[in-house]
Amino acid sequence: MDSRTLKRRDLAALWHPCTQMKDYGEEGSLPLLAIRRGEGVWLEDFDGRRYLDAISSWWVNLFGHANPVINAAIRDQLDELEHVILAGCTHEPVVQLSERLIEKTPEPLTRCFFADNGSAAVEVALKMSFHYWKNRGHPEKQRFICLSNSYHGETLGALAVGAVELYRSTYAPLMMPVITVPAPDCFEREAGETCADVARRQFAHMERALAEHADETCAVIVEPLVQCAGGMRMHDPEYLRLLRAACDRYDVHLIADEIAVGFGRTGTMFACEQGPISPDFLCLSKGLTGGYLPLAVVLTTDEVYDAFYDDYERLNAFLHSHSYTGNPLACRAALATLDIFDREPVLERNRELARHMGEALAPLREHPHVAEVRQTGMIAAVELVQDKSARTPFPWQERRGLHIYRHGLTRGALLRPLGNVSYLMPPYVITPEQIDFLVEVMREGIERAVRS
Ligand SMILES: *Cc1c(COP(=O)(O)O)cnc(C)c1O
Repeated sequence: MDSRTLKRRDLAALWHPCTQMKDYGEEGSLPLLAIRRGEGVWLEDFDGRRYLDAISSWWVNLFGHANPVINAAIRDQLDELEHVILAGCTHEPVVQLSERLIEKTPEPLTRCFFADNGSAAVEVALKMSFHYWKNRGHPEKQRFICLSNSYHGETLGALAVGAVELYRSTYAPLMMPVITVPAPDCFEREAGETCADVARRQFAHMERALAEHADETCAVIVEPLVQCAGGMRMHDPEYLRLLRAACDRYDVHLIADEIAVGFGRTGTMFACEQGPISPDFLCLSKGLTGGYLPLAVVLTTDEVYDAFYDDYERLNAFLHSHSYTGNPLACRAALATLDIFDREPVLERNRELARHMGEALAPLREHPHVAEVRQTGMIAAVELVQDKSARTPFPWQERRGLHIYRHGLTRGALLRPLGNVSYLMPPYVITPEQIDFLVEVMREGIERAVRS
């Protein structure tokens, strides 16, 4: 098999995710990569060309492709049990994984409910919160509060609590109504303000929404510290502290969607630790299996669990399921991933890598079309603008970020942008030299993007 043949067959049979297929058709300008194998940070195509996976294959990969520890765990599990229904049955990997996740996450989280992708985890958290209030005699609590520019997945419930219009607006007539509050995005700071100042200033909107709507609200849902799909926009942990305290005061749940930022991505094992706060629901997926297999989990408290624990006839049970809930192969991949965290100084190493990434990217701050270089742990983003002083964005139709993407591919780097934001969110096994290489390719790409 060669790359060209595979691409031809692909384009005749597949419909790709999050893609205008015409971009890849005969008149299109984007190449389709036919990947044959992966190893560490590298992906290799059928012609032997290599690409450094700077975005961890959509933020899922933590310890590289074909990681020997995770490979061995999955092979071992394959000979024991590939899958079994999780209603009425249990198995060792799912029990071990639940115990270890409870141990690693903030104190009051004591129960694991599994799903098979991030969007499904968000649906679980939303339904559970709503159902909790119903079981506790508060059926009037039916609404959710979310932040502007937030992203929680693509299924209708998860999409409804998101606010990235590109993904949402087409389907708006299908969505449940939500209360959307301005985000504490530090990119929007005014002269002289720190990110903590922005957090406090913007929290006034949340406080007002809660004061007005708490009686009819189940939960507030947030992406702690980084709104990833929303363009890697970042906020100060101060916002999490204020939000946790307010949710307690107003008797509203807090759902932390750490699907993208969990597992060491922001510098701590979980972003909430930087508050430090603990949510009533913690949604995890993506890095949970080290980027190997689809799996998601919602952790919650005894308080929530107890509201469902009752005689069957009272119909208070959480009757939600997915066919592949708690799949043993995926759980073994997750256990092997946690093993790596336990055996190696991952967070310490990430701190060094993050420091290096910050230093390497710093000179880009001076670039006349770079409005901001921002970073939280192992996520670093460069925001391109047409006019630096006014922060006027390039018109989205010009798709400037794609120049960086196409240039990256010619240089052996997979730098898929988010609109006019180019970012690095690499596997944790990247080296400082490889970071330097990515930054160099990004800089060259930015020159092409702003010139054309
Ligand atoms: C990716 C993502 C989701 C959705 O997860 P899927 O597995 O793609 O459905 C939800 N929330 C956040 C913050 C994400 O980054």
